Amino acid sequence: MSGERFETLAVHGGEPRPAPGGSVVHPIHQGTVYEAGPGGDAPYSRLGTNPTQRHLHRRLAALEDAEDALATASGMAAISIALHSVLGAGDHLIAAGSFYGGTLRFLTDHAERLGWTFDLVDPADTDAWRKARRPETKAFLTETITNPLVQVGDLAGAARFAREHDIASIIDNTLATPVVFRPHSVGFDLVCHSATKALNGHSDLAAGVVTGSRERIARVAAVMGAYGCALDPHAAYLLSRGLKTLALRVRQQHANAMAVARFLHGHTRVAEVRYPGLTAHPDHERAAALFDGFGSVLAFRPAGGAAAADALVASLRLPYAASSLGGVESLVTRVAGREAAGLPADLIRFSAGIEAPEDLVADFARALGD
Ligand SMILES: *Cc1c(COP(=O)(O)O)cnc(C)c1O
Repeated sequence: MSGERFETLAVHGGEPRPAPGGSVVHPIHQGTVYEAGPGGDAPYSRLGTNPTQRHLHRRLAALEDAEDALATASGMAAISIALHSVLGAGDHLIAAGSFYGGTLRFLTDHAERLGWTFDLVDPADTDAWRKARRPETKAFLTETITNPLVQVGDLAGAARFAREHDIASIIDNTLATPVVFRPHSVGFDLVCHSATKALNGHSDLAAGVVTGSRERIARVAAVMGAYGCALDPHAAYLLSRGLKTLALRVRQQHANAMAVARFLHGHTRVAEVRYPGLTAHPDHERAAALFDGFGSVLAFRPAGGAAAADALVASLRLPYAASSLGGVESLVTRVAGREAAGLPADLIRFSAGIEAPEDLVADFARALGD
């Protein structure tokens, strides 16, 4: 690691100096066809080797403090090809988390057809991982901050457990971002992101990221080439631009999430608030020891059940009632319909944007009838 602060890295990490053509903005190479140099492979966009894609990969590797990186067409493309790079027919996966809905659907709908088996375990329950391990266990998948329950598991312990048993460890770092936590620092092998969320941050492109060692990323790149899910060079350029402001945006989101969480915590018309930044959160100490900030996402349950939750979402004026996170606009989402997966029916997820915290708190106060 370079030793520079993240704010500096977000602007300069992976940028070639001197800048090509003297431009401080790396150019977009939209082209898909290149002359092969002597003995070399020609760049090709499906393989992620177009110069704009490669530039983005160097930037992403710098931000996650990894040897190499790939950008994919979506977060789900990143997670699915990361799993494909380490699992074959007959292999077993330990999935420790509550998991993003798309990840859970990928496992429940596709793992069996691919010949993979998996066990879904509580990320905080170390014994559950140990019990789930079998001789054919080849991968361990978790989330830094689980979505939508905002749990923080024993991340360092998970990476150590995987290494001890020669299991590939994969982590979805979307909710934390590398501003808050860099999972390679505790030994995770592959780090995935939905860059659709905070990495791009402007709710205007879909992208995914996988980072890791050169060797592991070469294997992921082979799967990416086979399935054809590289990120388009124009979107790669936009994502590279979005990354420049990542640290500023994530720090403001953290301040906003903290302000809203503190306001909701202990409010008479709020039954429960989950945000790892609150000392009352069961994983607070673990998160505080590992993280720099606690991210943009909190979950809460208003008093009065599901009807009260629907009414509250409808009466908020600043946050959009939309299902995403990590963007500059605050969002609220009703995460209903997953009660079977242990999610309360009255749960609301709040994703903090970069508005002024006072305005967000005032909106919540008004909507709660203060
Ligand atoms: C959104 C999201 C994904 C999926 O990303 P897409 O870009 O929508 O494919 C995966 N994991 C988490 C935690 C997410 O929030």
